[in-house]
Amino acid sequence: MKRIEIREVINKAGETVKVCGWINARRDHGKIIFIDLRDRSGLLQVVFEPSNAAAYELANNLRPEFVVAIEGKINQRPAKMVNDKIPTGTVEMTGEKLEILNTAKTPPFELDKDTIKVGEETRLKYRYLDLRSERMKNNIIMRHKIIKFFRDYLDRQGFLEIETPILTKGTPEGAREFMVPSRLWPGKFYVLPQSPQQFKQLSMVAGLEKYFQIARCFRDEDQRGDRQAEFTQLDIEMSFMEQEDVFNLTEGMMIEMVKALYPNKKFTEPFLRLKYAESMEKYGSDKPDIRKDKNDPDELAFCWIIDAPMFKQSEAEKKIVSGHHPFTMPNREDMEKYPGEPLKWRAYCYDLVLNGSELCSGSIRIHRRDIQQKIFEILGVSETEIKQRFGHMLDAFEYGAPPHGGIAPGVDRIVAILQNEPNIREVIVFPKTGDNRDLMMDAPNAVSKKALKEANIQIADEVTTKAKAKGENLYGESTSVAD
Ligand code: ASP
Repeated sequence: MKRIEIREVINKAGETVKVCGWINARRDHGKIIFIDLRDRSGLLQVVFEPSNAAAYELANNLRPEFVVAIEGKINQRPAKMVNDKIPTGTVEMTGEKLEILNTAKTPPFELDKDTIKVGEETRLKYRYLDLRSERMKNNIIMRHKIIKFFRDYLDRQGFLEIETPILTKGTPEGAREFMVPSRLWPGKFYVLPQSPQQFKQLSMVAGLEKYFQIARCFRDEDQRGDRQAEFTQLDIEMSFMEQEDVFNLTEGMMIEMVKALYPNKKFTEPFLRLKYAESMEKYGSDKPDIRKDKNDPDELAFCWIIDAPMFKQSEAEKKIVSGHHPFTMPNREDMEKYPGEPLKWRAYCYDLVLNGSELCSGSIRIHRRDIQQKIFEILGVSETEIKQRFGHMLDAFEYGAPPHGGIAPGVDRIVAILQNEPNIREVIVFPKTGDNRDLMMDAPNAVSKKALKEANIQIADEVTTKAKAKGENLYGESTSVAD
């Protein structure tokens, strides 16, 4: 018999069907065994009675998280017995045939309850169990729906989904980069992208006009609040446009998405626009939380922050750094008015803030070589470094680069806020800890001497000494099946 999903049983009263899933809970009432069977789509009560000896005997062995296939008749429950807490509460199944597909050890925490109070280290180590819980499963389903909505929306607007390389060269977004040693080019490294910034701009030079990507971005940051070393952006770029076009596109997409997927949420449209200086003066922040009632889980307060400064004075190093990133177009009037005072220039860049969190940032880009060269010079990038790191961008700008710009909404943050989750780890399937460890896979981890040699890597003496002092293994095994 073909398996059906639990959510489908509601219309099957009187029929015999087959369902598969996990034992969510078991209750014995006198001689009768009640099982709550769980699959991704829902829960179903299954009853095993002693009159059906074979199935009953087997059902006696059932424990939480065993995986089973059950065939049986779907019965309408009498009105008094209806369980209005579950969608299938008007029916139940009489278990006739039971097959145990796999047994399970007792899980380290209860999966039929919200796992939010369980220690995070345990949840992350056993993430595949944590994800079986109702809240976590829903977060992942809603994440899928949000991403699918964005994809479909952008497709309807004529955008192309374009994949860009992960093994690449650095692109400045203000964070440290992850490096990957090249085996074939000893002493040389790839860098994981902090964002596909240069590729999306080069796609505009290539004439692709409207680009998007559900892009994984990598930033090797120290422990910093609610950040992840790898995170997902809905990366967008378009040609022949102005700021207003990005606002319209982003605003339209967010509004339609919320209306379609979260009809209970309330927000004000059009989104408020605040100049950076105004926001700093009024709220002391460039991420103001302008909600009327911060305790209302259904209130969404979006606001654009515009006209931010092109450059900032970095306090630590006393030098000029980019406000957004160096590919951002400075305000032309400011450039003409204060030619020698770049700290006074505003940029054509914008952030979209939601409930006090930065949701997206973006900018109109420089598409002319002379302006880009000048910005690098102001940032103190040497002639040689400009050539080595950004020569390809400057070259490309000389072959008919169209005016262009874009934005990159942070997918993890959007899902977390909409799902009322306190941090983005709750909406990422397999996240890392705040200090960048994957507790389930046990990464980062040592690799074998052989692998290090092939990658032309030698571990620094001080690391070796520290590891020895701690009695830690510096090298992994190289005899495994995967080598
Ligand atoms: N690349 C930028 C970022 O990651 C976004 C953009 O300018 O489109 O913040």
